[in-house]
Amino acid sequence: MTANAQSKRLLILASKLGYQTRSFAEAARKLGVEVLFGTDRCNQLEDPWADGALALHFEHPERAAKKIVPHASSKPVSGVLALGDRPTLTAAYAARALGLPYNSPESVAACRSKLRQRTTLRAAGLPVPEFFSFALSEPLDVVLPRVKFPCVIKPLSLAASQGVIRANDAGEFIGAVTRVRALLESPEIRVTREPALDRLLVERYIPGTEVAVEALLQRGRLRVLAIFDKPDPLEGPFFEETIYVTPSRLPAEVQSSIAGCAEHTVRALRLTEGPLHAEFRVNENGPWVIEVSARPIGGLCSRALRFGPDKIFLEELLVRHAVGLEGSDLPRESCAAGVMMIPVPQSGILERVEGTEEAAATPGVEEAHITARLHDFIAAWPEGSSYLGFIFARGATPGEVEATLRESHKKLRFVLGPRLPVEHPAGRHLSAGG
Ligand code: ADP
Repeated sequence: MTANAQSKRLLILASKLGYQTRSFAEAARKLGVEVLFGTDRCNQLEDPWADGALALHFEHPERAAKKIVPHASSKPVSGVLALGDRPTLTAAYAARALGLPYNSPESVAACRSKLRQRTTLRAAGLPVPEFFSFALSEPLDVVLPRVKFPCVIKPLSLAASQGVIRANDAGEFIGAVTRVRALLESPEIRVTREPALDRLLVERYIPGTEVAVEALLQRGRLRVLAIFDKPDPLEGPFFEETIYVTPSRLPAEVQSSIAGCAEHTVRALRLTEGPLHAEFRVNENGPWVIEVSARPIGGLCSRALRFGPDKIFLEELLVRHAVGLEGSDLPRESCAAGVMMIPVPQSGILERVEGTEEAAATPGVEEAHITARLHDFIAAWPEGSSYLGFIFARGATPGEVEATLRESHKKLRFVLGPRLPVEHPAGRHLSAGG
């Protein structure tokens, strides 16, 4: 346990309860930091460690923040962390009310809506694709003349590439809009009550190499923790992630232009404090901002990054920063590291996973975790947003790490079966009678 840690208390806000949240809570526990936990999925608590969580509605962030404040009176909260995009605005209002260092609600709101983010960044002169948004109620023959191909369409407030589709011509555009409309009208998405589920953003497709930047803002200063290359081509029509490897193999001057672009982007958005995850594409015109989120990298991916002599994971670094403990400035280890977000080959019920032990035993692999639950329905992209699991590797070079991840993944086999139609009692009655 770290000196002073015992008096610290961290507010963790998260929509999804599961492995990512547990990973952060465990990092806090390891430091002796008490966790106050807030979620909007209290009816789905599946882990005993989350008992006592505050039940919040992240779609009403100011109200949710007000509900948090009295819980900080008996014992003060020293810091806040939002996991995933959805709770970031609640975190910002709560931090403002509790006097904690965090991004302002205004800056987080500008990130949360992909349309507002584009508008803010374009006004600040940042390199963003041409874009416009339209209401799903508008007839497509009115929308189509405005579209320049190839384009990418996306919902305004979803994440993890869910509902993001490339279209190269009018026919593909109509097909893509129909598909995303059905996704946005599905009960799973409607229940989130995310704003603007009735609109889509249309952007010019930006060709080029994509990287992810993981960074930490400290009193307005941006520290790039890692630039991850994404060695698999992300050319669409869907944009499921796979391999992330750091350090980047891009030339040093390209990496510094990405870091410079990230710096301008956070300044334009007025973000000042806490974790940041961003995607950029780089081509002959330099870096382009694809998206910036005021939160850490998703899933278990934080484990790809270790810092300092004790090789603490990113989760611990971020907990230390949030509650003001020493150590958030530790340097990343010098070896190459990577993670594979295990893609979903097709939608279906996960019946069986084979080869996990062999995949984990691949030399260079540190861990291989299957996070999808057996017998659950797993949706492939673009309707899906959860990976089957994560493979972590470390090695001397990024090339070696990439090869290790591919080798390990080849040993895994996922058996996905069709979703059985749910028989409605009324239907059974009718067919029995007819
Ligand atoms: P999300 O927040 O759902 O991840 P993004 O806007 O980050 O949505 O898009 C997801 C992925 O789709 C990006 O990482 C990128 O690979 C691809 N993408 C999104 N917009 C564009 C674009 N304008 N040009 C090229 N690729 C894009």
